[in-house]
Amino acid sequence: MAELTIDDFETEVTAFLDANAERKGETKKKDFKWGEGTDDVSIFEEVDRELEKRQLDEAKEFKAKRYDAGLGWLTGPTQYGGRELPQVYDRLYSGIESKYRVPSQTFFGIGLGMVAPTILAHATDDVKADLLPKLYRGDLVGCQLFSEPGAGSDLASLQTKAMRDGDEWIITGQKVWTSGAHYSDVGEIICRSDPDLPKHKGLTGFVVDMKAPGVEVRPLRQMTGGASFNEVFFTEVRVPDSHRLGDVNQGWSVALTTLMNERASIGAGAGGGGLGLANVDRLGQMVRHFGLGDDAVTRQELARIYTQFQVAKYTNQRALDRIKAGQAPGPEMSIAKLSLTRNLKETTEFVAQVLGPRICANTGEWGTFSWGQLLLGIPGMRVAGGTDEVMKNIIGERVLGLPKEPGIDTTSPFKDLKVGTQSR
Ligand SMILES: Cc1cc2nc3c(=O)[nH]c(=O)nc-3n(C[C@H](O)[C@H](O)[C@H](O)COP(=O)(O)OP(=O)(O)OC[C@H]3O[C@@H](n4cnc5c(N)ncnc54)[C@H](O)[C@@H]3O)c2cc1C
Repeated sequence: MAELTIDDFETEVTAFLDANAERKGETKKKDFKWGEGTDDVSIFEEVDRELEKRQLDEAKEFKAKRYDAGLGWLTGPTQYGGRELPQVYDRLYSGIESKYRVPSQTFFGIGLGMVAPTILAHATDDVKADLLPKLYRGDLVGCQLFSEPGAGSDLASLQTKAMRDGDEWIITGQKVWTSGAHYSDVGEIICRSDPDLPKHKGLTGFVVDMKAPGVEVRPLRQMTGGASFNEVFFTEVRVPDSHRLGDVNQGWSVALTTLMNERASIGAGAGGGGLGLANVDRLGQMVRHFGLGDDAVTRQELARIYTQFQVAKYTNQRALDRIKAGQAPGPEMSIAKLSLTRNLKETTEFVAQVLGPRICANTGEWGTFSWGQLLLGIPGMRVAGGTDEVMKNIIGERVLGLPKEPGIDTTSPFKDLKVGTQSR
């Protein structure tokens, strides 16, 4: 087969997008004007369920068209619906797509960013052949069922049980903070399969059907107002052994595959793009609007924030380039995640200084109270995907080579442990 040139690919993608999406106007970022358009800078979606359902349907429709046009999984193996193109084609596609208005694809972030790579690495051939095309076509949405009320940072202390019953497993327990569980079709779950083994050794991973009998999803309302997360209860849910990920009791390495991809996905936004957080125009125009354009301290602070986002962006780019060159995402992504949350926190502290009480008392003035959504969302960002403190531990131990935290019991049977110790 003749090699696909970059020009041919660009022509193909442009033809697809011309036929299926509207091209954006020529308005550029630098044209942003204080007081015009939306002032939304929230981190978490605050949509009601009906709107969310409509947005999901639109997202799925577009995703299916993209997949059917051969553009759904550019880098994946052809046997599972991919196209086996080098990573650069992914970037090319994203670059061209950014010039078009397409439905938000955030619904697929966890399924494709974390669950699908884990399925590819650890599932049976039949499950890969069944689920991967459906996930990349958007027919199925995936979620991550890891955290429990007593197991977050200390993930290896999880207690949801998986008991073998012939060709099936019976899962019973509770997960929490499951983003998107309410619209997901499949979930990657890590369960305790042998409490007689040390805590990292008696875990097993599965892909579970979120619509199976015994799965109950209950929304959790966050302080920003929306409900993006859920508690998920499992009562004797039956999962075929064919849907096991990796070997029995080897679930910790399955979880690590997902966690490394999670940090890579979160860290990929380290420049703060997408949400317009690093948008120096927005911050700069806000400063001028409130008469602080000539204030030396404010200017210095703004320049510092901008510089930090730029440094994070380039540091992160180096790490991503290594991943794209075929190396596994490593602890460097913890640095990217930590920089992102620190920079976001400093952005909101800066905005709060400029706005004063306007950030928490709604005067109806454009571009003021709306920043409160970002301010209230930051603590969630500092916790999701590994907390700031845990990131610092990882950097200390795996990047700087400092001694491990004392007290991590890797030898006693899990059932004999009284309290968990950090291990994520
Ligand atoms: C926005 C968001 C989305 C999420 N989505 C998902 C999801 O889709 N699926 C899922 O499974 N989970 C999800 N989570 C859960 C997330 O992974 C956990 O909240 C996180 O791992 C922290 O666990 P925890 O909440 O139990 O806090 P804990 O682990 O109890 O931590 C409490 C505090 O103690 C600190 N701490 C804990 N251990 C140490 C240590 N060893 N050294 C120093 N400090 C420590 C922490 O930094 C934190 O400040 C989400 C969370 C958020 C906020």
